[in-house]
Amino acid sequence: MVVSWKNDALRRIPAIEQVLAAPKVQDLIARFGRSQVLEAARATAAAVRQAILAATTEESLPPLDMAAFVARLEHQIETQTKPSLIPVINATGVVLHTNLGRAPLAAEACAKVMEVARGYSNLEYSLISGERGSRHSHLEKLLCQLTGAEAAAVVNNNAAAVLLSLAALAAKREVVVARGQLVEIGGSFRIPEVMEASGCQLKEVGTTNKVYLRDYEAAINENTALLLKVHTSNYRICGFTQTVAATELVALGQKYNLPVLEDLGSGVLVDLSTIGVEKEPPVPESIAAGVDIVTFSGDKLLGGPQAGIIVGKKKYLDLIKRHPLARAVRVGKLTLAALEATLQLYLDPDRVWERVPTLRALRQDDEMIKMRAQRLAAAIADCGDGITAVVCPGTSEVGGGSLPLTALPTFLVAVTSDRLSAQELATRLRQGQPPVVARIADDRVLLDLRTVVPAEEKDLVAALAAAHLKGR
Ligand SMILES: *Cc1c(COP(=O)(O)O)cnc(C)c1O
Repeated sequence: MVVSWKNDALRRIPAIEQVLAAPKVQDLIARFGRSQVLEAARATAAAVRQAILAATTEESLPPLDMAAFVARLEHQIETQTKPSLIPVINATGVVLHTNLGRAPLAAEACAKVMEVARGYSNLEYSLISGERGSRHSHLEKLLCQLTGAEAAAVVNNNAAAVLLSLAALAAKREVVVARGQLVEIGGSFRIPEVMEASGCQLKEVGTTNKVYLRDYEAAINENTALLLKVHTSNYRICGFTQTVAATELVALGQKYNLPVLEDLGSGVLVDLSTIGVEKEPPVPESIAAGVDIVTFSGDKLLGGPQAGIIVGKKKYLDLIKRHPLARAVRVGKLTLAALEATLQLYLDPDRVWERVPTLRALRQDDEMIKMRAQRLAAAIADCGDGITAVVCPGTSEVGGGSLPLTALPTFLVAVTSDRLSAQELATRLRQGQPPVVARIADDRVLLDLRTVVPAEEKDLVAALAAAHLKGR
């Protein structure tokens, strides 16, 4: 039997009609619509009922006045309508953080997406003839100009670019690839599995550390369709090693009339040696070496949207574009808009480093980061007692399965709070508004400003202050 003070409390839960008539709730209805508010009001009433039934003493009852109910309802509706995909501040220093969306887009790319998203476009319509056009047409000229290739196509991502190219050029036949290049990228992209999914047969040659041209040649038979070269993006085999250069593979391909496909992974269009990082094979170099088909990502070192770019000889690109899978992996207009605007920035090699955020983050020199870090540390120290911030040297990573040996020198802001462990502080930062993702080492939260733009610094300080002040 329910005790009488509980019965009494249950009767005092405001009636839904009364709640909906409250002026504050009317405002909520104007913002979120009646049906969402109604749902939230019912959920709130159910939660209050639960709290009453769970109360062990009269003193532990929840407040039952209308104002308290409305406050609870507001919280409920905020939780209920909160979007899932939201911006975060990346203070990890990992420039291409796959879990944080890889490359941030250039301002020009964002503007172009807005422009194309808002209305109609000539996505598949020729404004010259007034007839149906091709979505591949928009970027083909630009990609050929930037890479030296004859033809180009853009698909959903580089995994799709490899899958589609293999399906179109080698289905039911053999593809020769070096054992040391059977890469796995981020768990789900594995060269042997992609080959199987595309319907071709893997013909591994060489050993883990060494492969010679004669190994490829010995594997060629009447059922061979293609020679594949894969860039070992996220690992390096060092020591006693041997690989075959693209030019040699191309010569072998020509001898047997076989195309050479190179999966470059990141595929850069600038010379990274100018900022002193490991060499990453540039796309134009592969095309100049005579490689027939080259694939690479749009959102790795290129710094554009998620996309897979295929460039190469026209006769192969024609087959790739016509394959039924091409439709299944095609890109949308928003991607094309962002990619076109990003690629256009590469036409001005002097300024591309400033305009593409990925390149800007990679090039940012550690003295500049040190100055920003000192300013940030001072602002954090001003946040109140018990929070300390010191600047110390460290390294940033390129990330995104690129340049695994590169450690970019940087300066970190190491933060400690006397109320919270580093783990707790990092959790609160992650769950704050805006969320901040940071590193932890030696019980300190480490912030790397290489991946934080100056416009985010104020929010970062506020987020830290809020996280610290909410501590025990
Ligand atoms: C990253 C990578 C891929 C996959 O590219 P996504 O754009 O992530 O699909 C394929 N091959 C190589 C060598 C890579 O580095």
